Amino acid sequence: MTDDAASDDPAERQMRFLFALRTRGVTDARVLTAMERVDRGAFVRGLFAERAYEDMPLPISCGQTISQPSVVGLMTQALNVQPRDTVLEIGTGSGYQAAILSQLARRVYTVDRHRRLVREAQDVFRDLGLVNITAFTADGSHGLPEQAPFDRIIVTAAAEDPPSPLLAQLKLGGIMVLPVGQSDTVQSLLKVTRLESGYDYEELRPVRFVPLVAGLATE
Ligand code: SAH
Repeated sequence: MTDDAASDDPAERQMRFLFALRTRGVTDARVLTAMERVDRGAFVRGLFAERAYEDMPLPISCGQTISQPSVVGLMTQALNVQPRDTVLEIGTGSGYQAAILSQLARRVYTVDRHRRLVREAQDVFRDLGLVNITAFTADGSHGLPEQAPFDRIIVTAAAEDPPSPLLAQLKLGGIMVLPVGQSDTVQSLLKVTRLESGYDYEELRPVRFVPLVAGLATE
């Protein structure tokens, strides 16, 4: 059997997908189970659909990208989501990251500045029966004050610094994971923990994300 033929077999494809995640450091059993359950193929449309099970970022609508699965896994792992948690995601994009979080948390709020992406993601959430996700069109740099505070916050677009409204909307003991840095240079994945005495910052690894852009998009 050639490699190409093997990759058509869903079970084989799934094994490779999970193997690639483990090889790149996604070792948390709950995260791996969540990623085994949620079909990334449901979140990638058109030309790139057949590459959904490869460990690479792919283009989605509105000139945005669905993150690389291993990066989704590593960010989710760093977030250390607990079953009773309420999680906020900034940057819905395809909805894939929110879907993974929905397996681990009680409730997931996700926002994107592109209403088209929010609409498309909502359709997929409905098709997959992911009823604990609420998606909004909003500028996520202000967070989601009406639903705050959050146990966990994940930002999947890069800001220069952690936006202060997001820091303020994190519960005591809460964790936020986000890429920071200039959009066209190397960014760092940062883990922020809110403590009684302030915030603890831990730099995790270099990453590359699309920029966090202020204001709503036109589509
Ligand atoms: N988490 C996504 C990938 C996100 S790509 C997934 O799993 O597919 C980054 C997303 O952040 C883009 O969709 C972009 O529109 C969104 N974004 C950028 N700036 C934003 C802002 N200020 N508020 C909300 N969303 C924003």
